[in-house]
Amino acid sequence: METLTVREARSPSAVGREIRLQGWVRTRRDSKGGFSFLELNDGSCLGNIQIVVPGELPNYESEIKRLTTGCSIVVEGVIQASPGEKQAVELLARRIAVFGWAPPESYPLQKKRHSYEFLRTIAHLRPRTNSFGAVMRVRNTVCRSIHEFFQEEGFLYVHTPIITASDCEGAGAMFRVTTLDPTATPPPQPQDDFFGKPTYLTVSGQLEAEVFACSLGKVYTFGPTFRAENSNTTRHLAEFWMVEPEAAFFELPDNMDLAERFLKRIFRDVLERSAEDMEFFARWVEPSAVTTLQHVLQEEFVRLTYTEAVEILRQSGQDFEFPVEWGRDLQAEHERYLTETHFRKPVILSDYPRAIKPFYMRLNDDERTVRAMDVLLPRVGEIIGGSQREERLDVLTRRMEEQGLRAEDYWWYLDLRRFGTVPHSGFGLGLERAVQFITGMGNIRDVIPFPRTPGSAEF
Ligand code: ATP
Ligand code: MN
Repeated sequence: METLTVREARSPSAVGREIRLQGWVRTRRDSKGGFSFLELNDGSCLGNIQIVVPGELPNYESEIKRLTTGCSIVVEGVIQASPGEKQAVELLARRIAVFGWAPPESYPLQKKRHSYEFLRTIAHLRPRTNSFGAVMRVRNTVCRSIHEFFQEEGFLYVHTPIITASDCEGAGAMFRVTTLDPTATPPPQPQDDFFGKPTYLTVSGQLEAEVFACSLGKVYTFGPTFRAENSNTTRHLAEFWMVEPEAAFFELPDNMDLAERFLKRIFRDVLERSAEDMEFFARWVEPSAVTTLQHVLQEEFVRLTYTEAVEILRQSGQDFEFPVEWGRDLQAEHERYLTETHFRKPVILSDYPRAIKPFYMRLNDDERTVRAMDVLLPRVGEIIGGSQREERLDVLTRRMEEQGLRAEDYWWYLDLRRFGTVPHSGFGLGLERAVQFITGMGNIRDVIPFPRTPGSAEF
């Protein structure tokens, strides 16, 4: 006898087959006619399959009638066309065995709708809910598209290190990695540490990806990144996944084209491959979840310089919380105004003031701006940050001095400019921001299996 998933069993072609299913009971309903209905889910798809349980089964009274939400079972029987309106097929059970019980007095997931806040406190059980199951399947679809897209475009997957000695952004928000005991006396010295120098969890694989772009041409890295910023927002995690393409001989417009093609590919795949889950989000989470994706697919992304954006914002007549002034970084409220209200489509902003961007972004001829680009989307704001990289050794060293970075610490990065330097560009997409945008989920903590945020790393 073949074991199928619920997803396979629900297809009309399964009718007439004798099969085995395994999963968790969502509900049980007893009929007056002396038989019962079970709704079974195994995570393979959003929908359940209806199991018809005849009262004649030997364990009907002793076990079946004690089944509650969350119990795990194996069922054997025949798939048949369902007379009911709610489902095309159902399974007529011939044998049911119980793997595990889930006493309703103590099992935290009951049939009612639980709040996302509550579900975060049971992160080990929330994958059994409709919403979190749907999020995880969409997340998987996105990851599959990411790899397919870059592989088809001829990008090589490289694995950049998670432990690093360089601070990519030139900022301080990193986690230290150490084996030293801070309470030891005398106080431990950095040179006694495991790597003989201070090391951190990476904030980005970009610098290392540049090494491989400047030798293999087109590469991407996709892995966990870490930021110790103490920002408790709905769009920030301390540990998140980032996909970072980096390509030699790409200038900023090439980089923008790549980003637009990339996002559209992901959105198209999700609409096609995760249609059932997307309908769920549109029904229960964000009414515009599907239509926004469809809309974005049809639109060409607006390309605009930072300077032009500042002009638009200043003339908008909006009462922003943070002032808009040339030279200041844009806040989420500004980004969202541009993409949600002013243009009503995705926006790629470029050429930001040099002072608010990292040292590695290529300096423009105006000496005031750098070849940075951010992709902004409705609801989430910035989803991608990238740039053309500074490939001129003298300019790069000057920029590093300006930002108080020591050239010795970046000798290998500078070597890429000393020997056979080439123009190159890349960007970073936050995976969770992408999943958040696609699903319409309001809080980034609900689109990653085990969120890490300030004060919270229980699971
Ligand atoms: P923001 O301004 O939104 O804090 P950033 O400019 O610091 O982001 P980048 O360094 O440009 O972010 O990182 C590239 C991408 O990684 C961002 O566009 C975003 O999608 C994602 N990202 C950055 N920080 C976080 C975070 N703390 N949690 C989740 N995703 C993040
Ligand atoms: Mn950014």
